[in-house]
Amino acid sequence: MDIKRLVDSLRDCPCGRPHKAEIKAIEIGSGLKAETAKILNKYGFPKRILVVADKNTLRASDGIMEILKEGGFDAELELYDNLRVAEMTECRRLQEICGSRGFEGILSVGSGSLNDICRFAALHADTDFAIFATAPSMDGFASGTAPITDNNFKTTHPARQPSIIIADTSILAKSPAILKSAGFGDMIGKLTGLVDWKVSHLLTGEYYCKNIAALTEEALRRVTALADRITEDSEEAAEAVMEALVITGIAMKLADSVRPASGDEHIISHYWEIKKLEEGKLSDFHGRKVGVATLICSRIYRYLASFETVDPAAENLDWDDIHRVYGPNFTKDVIRLNNPTITEQTTPKLIKENWQAIREIVFSTLPENEELKALMKTAGAPTTIEEIDVSPKLGLEGVIYHPYMRYRMTLMRLIPMLNIPVDWKSFIE
Ligand SMILES: [Zn+2]
Ligand SMILES: [Zn+2]
Repeated sequence: MDIKRLVDSLRDCPCGRPHKAEIKAIEIGSGLKAETAKILNKYGFPKRILVVADKNTLRASDGIMEILKEGGFDAELELYDNLRVAEMTECRRLQEICGSRGFEGILSVGSGSLNDICRFAALHADTDFAIFATAPSMDGFASGTAPITDNNFKTTHPARQPSIIIADTSILAKSPAILKSAGFGDMIGKLTGLVDWKVSHLLTGEYYCKNIAALTEEALRRVTALADRITEDSEEAAEAVMEALVITGIAMKLADSVRPASGDEHIISHYWEIKKLEEGKLSDFHGRKVGVATLICSRIYRYLASFETVDPAAENLDWDDIHRVYGPNFTKDVIRLNNPTITEQTTPKLIKENWQAIREIVFSTLPENEELKALMKTAGAPTTIEEIDVSPKLGLEGVIYHPYMRYRMTLMRLIPMLNIPVDWKSFIE
């Protein structure tokens, strides 16, 4: 993928924000594992490196340590059993290892949480950072931020964007179907994410770049066109999905915002995740939760937009109730993120004036409910909370209360102002 051409095409963007990316190379192709050392050398990656993997990702990229050593790298391995949660304690530990043992670069072998702890540690230890991807399971590869769990509360932190991303399509194609369908679910989330970005731009004047939104839209088009081939052992499909996932990650970095890739559906997924974690339970894969949340959000957005007119009013929230639902572990963060509340950035009058434009955004972006569900089923992605092991109680809670864990305008954050009756349960069943 020609990353330089992509960034050059956004030079002097009319949105006024300079679009910069630190990524030097994105190499996606068949048999690239054998070329790993050569690629890292070509782009000047430092020689003294810490390789971070878990047993699954190391098995998938069997022989990579030898390839690195033969290629002249002074590489040491940090091996996890099966890393599923990106914990702040692990970020700090890797950072400390880099500092005390003089590593100048981190190579993360894997995806998801493994990448996230590495990109956080690389920023804070000020080392270079590269990824060898083993599954097209989520869109965070190129991201310059990392969702990290600290005391069970998950928030997005600044982190280092990788300078090099390598993906061997013969490895991606053989990755478990569950991870590939998770990547599809994460991409489907861009549907509601883009709606939220556009709505916030209208109502709060939040920064928006149509050229960057177009990058995400194009990546989404390419992946949905491949829905029926997602779970196949196909290098061609794996390559296309991987490229789309990488592009949306780059879009976040170029916009310097998570908006091009994340909206209500991601916040709901995070809510489910932290609440399960609080009980010591692991969640399903990120993209699988995001996919299910997208389907629920999409139904609600379309329902809201079915009202031809609205009569909005200032919100009158029962904060005691909200704090009770979040519980003692999270209430402090909820208070911090809602003083002032994001809704103070808009007015009932502005919502009323923009309602037709909002309806237009919803209907032009989101497919019909049944169409979206069928698309997800075709790609092997789950479509119900039951399939991702979220109880009806937790499912409902996340859908109703998630907006208060961010200072961010989304369509669902507006519901308390809209005066539209919402039968929440009906959207989850
Ligand atoms: Zn722009
Ligand atoms: Zn995601």
